[in-house]
Amino acid sequence: MNSKIWLSSPHMGGNELKYIQEAFDTNWIAPLGPNVSGFENDLNFFLNTNKEVGALISGTSALHLALILSGVEYGDEVICQSMTFSASANPILYLGAKPVFIDSEKDTWNMCPNYLEEAIQERISKGTKPKAIILVHLYGMPAKLDEIVAIAKKYEIVLIEDAAEALGSTYKGQKCGTFGNFAALSFNGNKIITTSGGGAIVCDNLETKNKAIFLATQARDDAPHYQHSEIGYNYRMSNIVAGIGRGQMEVLDKHIELRREMNKFYIDLFKNVNGVTVFQEPDLDYFSNHWLSCIVIESEITGFNREDLRLELLSYNIESRPLWKPMHLQPIFSNYPFFGSNVSENLFEKGLCLPSGSNLTKNDKEFITKTVSNYLNP
Ligand SMILES: *Cc1c(COP(=O)(O)O)cnc(C)c1O
Repeated sequence: MNSKIWLSSPHMGGNELKYIQEAFDTNWIAPLGPNVSGFENDLNFFLNTNKEVGALISGTSALHLALILSGVEYGDEVICQSMTFSASANPILYLGAKPVFIDSEKDTWNMCPNYLEEAIQERISKGTKPKAIILVHLYGMPAKLDEIVAIAKKYEIVLIEDAAEALGSTYKGQKCGTFGNFAALSFNGNKIITTSGGGAIVCDNLETKNKAIFLATQARDDAPHYQHSEIGYNYRMSNIVAGIGRGQMEVLDKHIELRREMNKFYIDLFKNVNGVTVFQEPDLDYFSNHWLSCIVIESEITGFNREDLRLELLSYNIESRPLWKPMHLQPIFSNYPFFGSNVSENLFEKGLCLPSGSNLTKNDKEFITKTVSNYLNP
């Protein structure tokens, strides 16, 4: 049997251990230190923004802190894209707040601006104006940012970008993660760069970042003893983990290039297959890092569905996965309001994510080509 071909696996650049060694040599084995500030500076520079990045233990913790800093409290409502990973929505529940889910549109698979506005108007008419909007750039594809940013401004609602999958993606030349009042980045093991586990919050200014870091380090008041006036969290990234991040930043642009090449590879592989479409940017305003390459299968045309293809690939030790199951269809979230039709539901039923890692070899690609071709033309 060939070795497993993963959907998305860690891909080290080479210098990660050098930064970790420095941390050991200088005994910076703590949730602060030169690698943490170095990694934050690298991210700030990469995002090309005057916003401020704070390194945390995960993307989920970044979303949690972003909601707290947006003033979300028990009983408040927060709008969230339905088609996403559950980590986008769980922090709403951590706070005892209530999610209101919005369907996707067909171009970017992200939050539909029309249903967003409908939801805001309906909630306002009920006297429960949402406190924040969590927008996701799924699989690296930028959402319809012009429309969504305009709606957030019009109704004066805080916009939080979940850019966990979209580091390096741009909309009209501007990096995802710099459009909202806050953004969350993730460096989990399967993301475009990884620190094993990790994340970051992007804030509007230094004051807000400092507040985020204050909360992330147990909310210690300025006193010689331990004194607390607010609920604190233990969310700060360690200097060891940040060392991996600094090494990964050296190869981020290369990873983006390679993930985009994987997307081209699938466009080529499926170009003559009726009923299979590879997910691509709707136009040149959108630049996706193509964190994962995805296809949609119209089974009435192809004669097979996404589950048939998934199981076939699995039998050859190739990992693939259905698209995110929308949150409004998840047992834990099924009682919350949903605005939309069946766009995300259809995508879930027909869509499949394919191996997309920046470390897939020429042999891996040939094996995928052979397996898919044999399946399509037995
Ligand atoms: C990975 C991911 C997260 C969570 O990030 P962690 O670092 O794993 O906590 C949140 N949202 C989306 C869309 C993700 O893909």
